[in-house]
Amino acid sequence: MQILLHPFAGSIQQYDQEIADPSRYRPDHCPQCQAAWGLTAHGFYRRTLVDAGFDGSIRVRRYLCRFCRRTVSLLPQFALPYLRFSVTVMALFLMARLRDGHSLVAAAALAGLPSMPYQRGQFWVRRFRKQAVALCAALAALTAPVAASSFIERALHMLEAIGWITAHRFLFADLRFHLLGWPAFLAPDGRIATVQPATPPA
Ligand SMILES: [Zn+2]
Repeated sequence: MQILLHPFAGSIQQYDQEIADPSRYRPDHCPQCQAAWGLTAHGFYRRTLVDAGFDGSIRVRRYLCRFCRRTVSLLPQFALPYLRFSVTVMALFLMARLRDGHSLVAAAALAGLPSMPYQRGQFWVRRFRKQAVALCAALAALTAPVAASSFIERALHMLEAIGWITAHRFLFADLRFHLLGWPAFLAPDGRIATVQPATPPA
């Protein structure tokens, strides 16, 4: 399955109503085999999402390509693939922690997550730190880099100047680059890494 981002900017409730119509945001070609007009509606899957004032599951529209028989899903742009928390929540947390120097607990509260486990915040910070140099390089296509004392600070400035969701859409759609890094079970472009066949016993 390939994930595409859906440029939807309204509320989660509006999003759910709008995706009820399969034609509304149907991509005009398959992102995998490039065939035009071959995508047919293929139901939904559900994923969890935590956003300001929302903690639940959302439907994600799926299409099937008539030509290559592979599926494509249309994730709303406020969600991050493979992470439960929305771009906005993550941005608020990382800015509070890394730019403004709040403690992990205070940063979580400022992001609207007062009961978030401490380890989750540490995990996000670690992933963001690892990405900072690559983020600065990739985002230079959208905004001029600013002078900063570290790549982390520079990346945060650039994300703020561009807007986190706009930056996420650009990185993901054009470069297949995940804002917080692809999880280890996926290849660097987000595809399921090829499973090596087991060596047959001698
Ligand atoms: Zn196809």
